[in-house]
Amino acid sequence: MPETRVQLYFLYIYLIGTMLGNGHSAKRAPRTLKRQVMGPSKLRIVQRQLFRALATSVKPKKTDVLIVGGGPAGLTLAAAIKTSPYLSGLSTTLVDAGDLKTKVAGFYDAPPEKYTNRIISLTSQSKQFLEQRVGVQLMEERLQAFDGLFVSDGCSDAHLEMERGSMGYMVEILNIQSSVLRRLSELNASGLQLIDQTKVEDIRYEDPEDHQSWPVVSLSNGEVYKTRLLVGCDGFNSPVRKFSKIESRGWFYNRFGVVATMKLDYPPFKVRGWQRFLPTGPIAHLPLPGDDATLVWSTTEPLSRLLLSIDPEQFVLLVNAAFVLEDADMQYYYKQLEQGSITTQELKSDIAYRTELVYSKLDNDAFIDEIYPPAVSSIDSTSRARFPLKLSHADSYVADRIALVGDAAHTTHPLAGQGLNMGQGDVESLVKALEKAYQRGLDLGSLLALEPYWADRYPTNNMLLGVVDKLHKLYSTDFGPIVAARSFGLKAIQSLGPIKDFMMAKVSGPSQ
Ligand SMILES: Cc1cc2nc3c(=O)[nH]c(=O)nc-3n(C[C@H](O)[C@H](O)[C@H](O)COP(=O)(O)OP(=O)(O)OC[C@H]3O[C@@H](n4cnc5c(N)ncnc54)[C@H](O)[C@@H]3O)c2cc1C
Repeated sequence: MPETRVQLYFLYIYLIGTMLGNGHSAKRAPRTLKRQVMGPSKLRIVQRQLFRALATSVKPKKTDVLIVGGGPAGLTLAAAIKTSPYLSGLSTTLVDAGDLKTKVAGFYDAPPEKYTNRIISLTSQSKQFLEQRVGVQLMEERLQAFDGLFVSDGCSDAHLEMERGSMGYMVEILNIQSSVLRRLSELNASGLQLIDQTKVEDIRYEDPEDHQSWPVVSLSNGEVYKTRLLVGCDGFNSPVRKFSKIESRGWFYNRFGVVATMKLDYPPFKVRGWQRFLPTGPIAHLPLPGDDATLVWSTTEPLSRLLLSIDPEQFVLLVNAAFVLEDADMQYYYKQLEQGSITTQELKSDIAYRTELVYSKLDNDAFIDEIYPPAVSSIDSTSRARFPLKLSHADSYVADRIALVGDAAHTTHPLAGQGLNMGQGDVESLVKALEKAYQRGLDLGSLLALEPYWADRYPTNNMLLGVVDKLHKLYSTDFGPIVAARSFGLKAIQSLGPIKDFMMAKVSGPSQ
């Protein structure tokens, strides 16, 4: 059969599959229909078998590196390869299901007035890697440097104040992605192909009996690639990781991260982040330029639902209260709001009354700005969203001809703002390992070439995942003895400069 006819037939089968409700680009059929026609997993198997059968009739295109995923990790990796003195000659293909070329790239040319809601803290180390090694110019006017973090315990008066010249930067994920895309287009690099709005549908080894043979990857647009090295930058549900059979361990925290972008009463006097550990999870209030700020409120499933359902004014009142009042007060408000037995006006005056009581116990009014974040005046109500929080860690980041990077290899609770930064660290390390392998004349898909990458990154990431997990557990309780012990620990760190410096270096990288 001529190749184009095979591809058309292939697409036809795919479209039928998606219409039956198993695809992602066409409108989904109701789940019940899918079950009546054929069990969902059976349909998926048949679809995959068809892809596989047809893929064998299509001559695969060859690429040295195939990156699955155009999130921050995948795009940075493509740009790091194309700016490497050793690797830039490698033919590199990046495939992503999303709209990179119009929607993501367009963010750089015509940024929206309001901030988007996926905002993360980028460490100085990650920013330096992006700018100095990869040559990316982030949209500076949309990012905010911060030089301190005030962490407090919602069950005691213990707190930790960290201050440092360049602690990190609050930046939209779209800023990172679109700036890297801009860099790629400036490079106009030969041997780089970006394929967006296309899903990886199937992966197999060219010779299924030989795992050192090249992986063959079938795409939803009918194209088939075979690659020397397949890199999974494809997020938590990574199809590449599933294909590699590398085990991933972890758990859902049964907590959600509620995010929102907010307007403050006035631009903050001190540009720093604020985090308060409540027994239901930490709430973090982080600076954006001017009088904008961003929120990550990690909390239980029912509370996250409540926070998304209440009206924006009530949401603002709760955010301000959560940084000042006791958990018992907050629990009372949640209950009243759930039952619909409190009006916005009643909520407002009750919170104002209790907040005044707390302030009146302070020795000096000037302390208010030192220990409580600037008050939020409103939120962009369309920015409210929630994300399930989980821990996962792959047993290895490499297999024959495969490497896992970013969330495909590990995911973490956002309380220390490390997930994306860990992915940037992975990219830096993988590129170094590939450069070394190239200089030694090794096959870049071989385990010999890839193993130094996972040996370098696994221990660092494992330590961070462990520390963040322990912190989450330590602070998810209001049990008296534990509160006393952790408060003692926090106060001890607050008074021990060198330990504090060590901790800051761990979360934000070495001093600039
Ligand atoms: C509430 C919250 C707050 C956070 N705050 C911070 C923070 O302050 N600092 C920090 O460092 N991190 C933070 N993180 C974590 C951070 O957002 C993630 O670690 C990071 O975005 C992961 O990037 P990635 O490129 O590895 O994966 P992703 O961004 O998940 O990208 C994966 C890509 O793969 C593509 N893909 C998947 N499957 C396929 C397929 N079959 N075919 C084609 N393409 C596919 C997807 O389209 C996607 O573009 C936070 C996370 C949450 C939930």
